[in-house]
Amino acid sequence: MPDIVLSIKDLEKMYVGGVHAVKGVSFDVHEGESVAIIGSSGSGKSTVLRCINRLIEPTAGVIELRGEQINTPHADVNDIRSRIGMVFQSFELFAHLRVLENITLGLIHVRGMSKEEADIVAMEVLERVDLLDRVNAYPGNLSGGQKQRVAIARALAMKPEVILFDEPTSALDPELVGSVLNTIRGLADEGMTMVIVTHEINFARDVADRVVYLDEGLVAEEGPSSIINEPKSERMQRFLSSMNEEN
Ligand code: ADP
Ligand code: MG
Repeated sequence: MPDIVLSIKDLEKMYVGGVHAVKGVSFDVHEGESVAIIGSSGSGKSTVLRCINRLIEPTAGVIELRGEQINTPHADVNDIRSRIGMVFQSFELFAHLRVLENITLGLIHVRGMSKEEADIVAMEVLERVDLLDRVNAYPGNLSGGQKQRVAIARALAMKPEVILFDEPTSALDPELVGSVLNTIRGLADEGMTMVIVTHEINFARDVADRVVYLDEGLVAEEGPSSIINEPKSERMQRFLSSMNEEN
C-alpha cells in the first residue's frame, strides 16, 4: 500500500451560529491516489476541504500531512498551503495581475524564488495546462475554462504534495467543462495525489480511485469508485438518481 499523504480523523466543524456542518469525518488519501468527495449541497464537502487547507479551524479532529498534525496553533500556514494546493470553484485569480504573475506571486513570496526562476516554473506549468499562449493576458480576458486552468497551473507551480479541488467545473459554461476535466484527468494519470469535490459523477467514477459520499456532515458510504454503480445505502442511491436527472 502506498504511503498515506493526508489523514483526516474524526473531523468536526461547528460554525459560529451553531451549524454542525461536519460531524466526525475520517478518511485517508494515499500517494498517487485520486479521492472524489460527492454529496448533496450542504453536506459539508467544502467545509472539509477548507479545514484541510487551514482556511477555517476545525472544531475537533486531527488532520495529518505525512503523519504530522497540521491543525495545531504553531503549524506554519504558508508552508501547509504550499504543500496542499487548492483550486476553487470561483478560480480566485488576481484580476489586476497577468496570468504569468498570478503564478509567480506565490513562488517569489512563499518559495523565495527569484523572478527569473519563478518565470521558468510558470512557463512549465502553463505548458502542462496548454496555456502558453496566454501568459500575458489578464484573467478578465480569459474564458472560465482558461481561468480555471490558470488556477490549476498556479497550484501545480508550488509542487504540492496533494491538490484539493472544490467543484472546479461548477462555475463553467457547459462547453468549457471538458477542457478542465481533461486537465485534471491528465494530472491523475501522471500520479498527482488529489481530493476532488465534484458533481460530475461520471468523471468521479472514471477518474477517481476512491469515492467518499458525504451526507449531512458524515461519511455515509466510501469505497472504490465502482460503488457509484452499486451504492449500498438508500441515501446514496437517491442522491445518484437525483444527479442523473440533472444531467
Ligand atoms: P457543501 O460544500 O457540501 O455544499 P458546505 O461545507 O459549504 O457544504 O456547508 C455545510 C453546511 O455548513 C451548510 O449547512 C452551510 O450552510 C453551512 N455553512 C457553510 N459555511 C458556513 C459559514 N461560514 N458559516 C455558517 N454556516 C456555514
Ligand atoms: Mg461546497
